[in-house]
Amino acid sequence: MTDFASLVHAVPDFPKPGIVFRDITPLLANAGAFARCIDALADPWLGQGVQAVCGIESRGFIFGAALAQKLKAGFVPLRKPGKLPPPVTGVDYELEYGSDRLEARAGALRPGERTLIVDDVLATGGTLAAARALVVELGAELAGAAVVIELDALDGRARWDRVTPLHSLLHY
Ligand code: AMP
Repeated sequence: MTDFASLVHAVPDFPKPGIVFRDITPLLANAGAFARCIDALADPWLGQGVQAVCGIESRGFIFGAALAQKLKAGFVPLRKPGKLPPPVTGVDYELEYGSDRLEARAGALRPGERTLIVDDVLATGGTLAAARALVVELGAELAGAAVVIELDALDGRARWDRVTPLHSLLHY
């Protein structure tokens, strides 16, 4: 258990009944805890040749941008549809009800660029799988993924592969 775990608040029945929302904003507001969280996120990736960090909208931007600075890598936002100006590259993915889409600026990653995907929470794994497909579509080399929180009961990790590193700091 890391010292910043207590600053992730569990909010029952948000945004809908039955969901326990993991609110990371108290952690962000604490300078020391935020810094230690970024250090811990970066730790497995130091010396791994990460050249680009892709953050998933929107909380993945916060952790991803800080991590990119730490790793001396560039930052690329993966956005919800319609937010980025053209030209964009996108992937569609299925949700429990309906579908969604992630987009990046076309050519945002160089061919073979070693890329790390970052988000705040891994739940069912659909979002991370879509981000992965987008990074591959952009022609980059996937180094792995880093998330702050993994919701073990939802087994999102099963939608990732067994060989590419996926590191999470906190498990619920
Ligand atoms: P999933 O595609 O099901 O793995 O969902 C992951 C995305 O949804 C992440 O971008 C999270 O920010 C968000 N998310 C899913 N479940 C939660 C939760 N319980 N608390 C906070 N964010 C969540």
